[in-house]
Amino acid sequence: MDCFNCCLIQLNEIIVDDYIYHDCQLPNIVLNKIKFRICPYCGARYAVIENTMDLHQTIALELVNKKGKLTNREISFLLKLSGYHEVDIAPMMNCKVSTIKEWEIGQVEMSEIQEQFFRSLMASKLKKNCNIERKFLAENAPSVIILHMNENGEWEVKNRSYNRSNG
Ligand SMILES: [Zn+2]
Repeated sequence: MDCFNCCLIQLNEIIVDDYIYHDCQLPNIVLNKIKFRICPYCGARYAVIENTMDLHQTIALELVNKKGKLTNREISFLLKLSGYHEVDIAPMMNCKVSTIKEWEIGQVEMSEIQEQFFRSLMASKLKKNCNIERKFLAENAPSVIILHMNENGEWEVKNRSYNRSNG
């Protein structure tokens, strides 16, 4: 593969331990041992992320079962991945389309009951179960979620780190 910038140079490959996966629009998703192609001429770096469909589903499953409340970006991520549009989800959630949009931009917070129902809707779309109990929503959310690819080429959550609580 050639550099998109220079178009001429053969790229070097390196493995990066921890790569913040900005492309998913979530700030705290870290991918472990990711291949990078680096241009020796201009220094351009390209992350090589394989099996992104599985990666996004693994992130989504982690989110529907995570402790603490979903952030607005996480709600937006789940909605996009589910393929539901706001107009599809609003009647299921028994609320207005504008409310869904407000959740996505963080203007309004979901109630706990709404969030539990939202998570189970998203989980069923992933054909997985949501095992979150209401009490978990009050707990600390993981500050960083680290994923890696196993030997079968499937993405797995390797580690979650939590900020120390003040209590
Ligand atoms: Zn280059």
